[in-house]
Amino acid sequence: MAEIIGMYRLQKGVSDRMLLDTKTRPEEKASEILCEYTVKEEAINPVLIAEKLGVNVVNAEFTDASYSGALQVDKSNIATIYVKHDDTPERKRFTIAHELGHYLLHKDNRKDFIDNEETVFFRSGESNSQLEREANDFAANLLMPRERVLRKWEESADIDLLRRYFGVSTLAMKFRLKNLGLIFG
Ligand SMILES: [Zn+2]
Repeated sequence: MAEIIGMYRLQKGVSDRMLLDTKTRPEEKASEILCEYTVKEEAINPVLIAEKLGVNVVNAEFTDASYSGALQVDKSNIATIYVKHDDTPERKRFTIAHELGHYLLHKDNRKDFIDNEETVFFRSGESNSQLEREANDFAANLLMPRERVLRKWEESADIDLLRRYFGVSTLAMKFRLKNLGLIFG
């Protein structure tokens, strides 16, 4: 219930500035997208969300093996996400969500993004640039929405159970739980 109310408020915008201010811009955007494109309790599928946004998702074999994903917006504004074809399903989900973050938050600044182990947080722990931090923040909020994580954690504080429920790597799940102040260290 709290989740629905929270999301409704986000959609109303200006009059709920107070609530919006407690969230980061990537989190706001992720809530907005989830509210619009997914049913409340269904599994979150970033490929389906991309399709609904009109963004193509293709498996790719990169010439540089360290690349995990890329976003390209062409001259006619058609966007394509490339994802490393032999990554684990969890990594691919995170990469796609990360590229969607670039698409929704940054495509007015730049048309091409290429990501490797350094920029996608589940491999390096720390991302250097502001744009990369925002894309990761968006991805974490899209795949592991705050309210759902809090509720699931209350049901069972089991990291392995949660990471399977959310379809993310153990590292991404731990990072999110830490970020929400649920675990330490
Ligand atoms: Zn990136």
